[in-house]
Amino acid sequence: MEPVAVGLGDATLTASGSPLRPGILLDRDGTIIVDHGYVGSINRVEFITGASKAIARFNLAEDGAHIDLFAYCPYHPAGVIEAFTRTSQDRKPRPGMAKAAQAALNLDLSASWVVGDQHEDIGLAEAVGASAVYVGADRCERPGVWSFPSLAAAAPFILERIAV
Ligand SMILES: [Mg+2]
Repeated sequence: MEPVAVGLGDATLTASGSPLRPGILLDRDGTIIVDHGYVGSINRVEFITGASKAIARFNLAEDGAHIDLFAYCPYHPAGVIEAFTRTSQDRKPRPGMAKAAQAALNLDLSASWVVGDQHEDIGLAEAVGASAVYVGADRCERPGVWSFPSLAAAAPFILERIAV
């Protein structure tokens, strides 16, 4: 449901001299972990086979994997807690979380990728001008979207195409 960002190597420089780099914005539920619905506790976290190894490959590291930034949206227009019941620019497919990752990690979103298992993830990619990968048992038939059965299956495709 919530994307996370993995920043990759340097690319070009901004006017301030900070490096811009491509990133991979990863949905969590159904992309990194099995979607059991609301997570709620660590006992409900089950990694999808190959997901952590795919993230390690994105880090260009031999072992281990890390996420550079975790982002989430606590708001939902149909929420049950009044303080969190509202629309938000952070709710996918709106671009708020991707823009926050862009600012925090100096991402070039037009050179970045969004990977997810819902049409909202693909909408996020379109909203920020990133490339889109859909993961899951079915396919996304939208033009310009690549479909793979899993993050692990998509990783080599993304790594071949991302500018590092
Ligand atoms: Mg998902």
